[in-house]
Amino acid sequence: MTCDLCGSLMTEQMVTYTIEFGDRLVVVEHVPARVCVQCGERLYNPETVERLQKIVWEQRAPSRMLQTPVFDFAAK
Ligand SMILES: [Zn+2]
Repeated sequence: MTCDLCGSLMTEQMVTYTIEFGDRLVVVEHVPARVCVQCGERLYNPETVERLQKIVWEQRAPSRMLQTPVFDFAAK
């Protein structure tokens, strides 16, 4: 399978998925995805997307908590 964006090869990998949910950043580890070796584009299969949405919406107890520093790129 090749990347839609750059046409390079995509490989099956475990990735860390992050999404902003309200004022929180939700992190899901060990998510299977196809990742482009060239540009890093990620593709998830429909079942994975469904499960990711469930995990985020359910807001069940997380496996662990991260302390996350936030920077503003535009700040001087
Ligand atoms: Zn690509």
